[in-house]
Amino acid sequence: MTSAPLLKLDDVEVVYQGNLLALRGISFDLAERGITALLGANGAGKSTTLKTISRLLAAEGGAVRRGSLHLRGADISRLTAADLVRRGVVHVLEGRRLFRHLTVEENLRMGAFSRSDTAAVRADLEAAFTLFPRLRERRGMKAGYLSGGEQQMAAIARGFMARPSLMLIDEPTMGLAPGIAQEVFAAIRDINATERVAFLIAEQNTALALSVADRVHVLESGKLALSRKVADLCSQEEIQALYLGRALQ
Ligand code: ATP
Repeated sequence: MTSAPLLKLDDVEVVYQGNLLALRGISFDLAERGITALLGANGAGKSTTLKTISRLLAAEGGAVRRGSLHLRGADISRLTAADLVRRGVVHVLEGRRLFRHLTVEENLRMGAFSRSDTAAVRADLEAAFTLFPRLRERRGMKAGYLSGGEQQMAAIARGFMARPSLMLIDEPTMGLAPGIAQEVFAAIRDINATERVAFLIAEQNTALALSVADRVHVLESGKLALSRKVADLCSQEEIQALYLGRALQ
């Protein structure tokens, strides 16, 4: 018997404000410990896909009109965003959204709000600082004073503090200098390798996303236009199309 995938979306259709169609029948699986890149042009539906999974969609006036979502075989379509965090699904939103007046360490501890295993939280805080040495140096600094790259790292580290099995990350390198963007992706690769966390990453930087992902999905106007293992992306034409934010049919 094969076990259920970590996450399964089947024929998911999403509308905003009752009738604005944003996702038009999306189906894909995520494997335990995989890294999946979700690519596509502005407005293709990447953020909507992540919000659909984390259940933050309703807060934005969106709703799933058709299809199903299962986490390890369990229907999650009626759960709240807080339920999903408790089940190990953490969403790192676009724009980082740290508590600017709290310190880096306080922000990270907020990520563990649903946990009562105090000793393990302390150990995970150290693990987070090992993954992000820049944050250890700045642990007492107010988050509002961090650079953009450090804020992104802190947002990911805060998500890690919930001890997730799946992290949904929206545009982690937006507005970052190339070297810092690479550091952010290196940290994602480390978390995946050492902490066995699966990732679904919405990203416009195709080259960086493909450098860490093992699977790629490309969205076009709310539809999946291409789904591949990265190792199977062979034709130059196909790769070029990905760089242009569209996929060949
Ligand atoms: P971007 O990179 O620009 O964020 P995206 O691929 O993440 O793009 P989404 O933000 O998911 O795309 O948007 C998909 C579609 O849904 C777009 O047509 C967008 O205008 C629409 N949309 C997104 N959020 C809302 C909302 N809260 N209310 C109405 N329509 C929305």
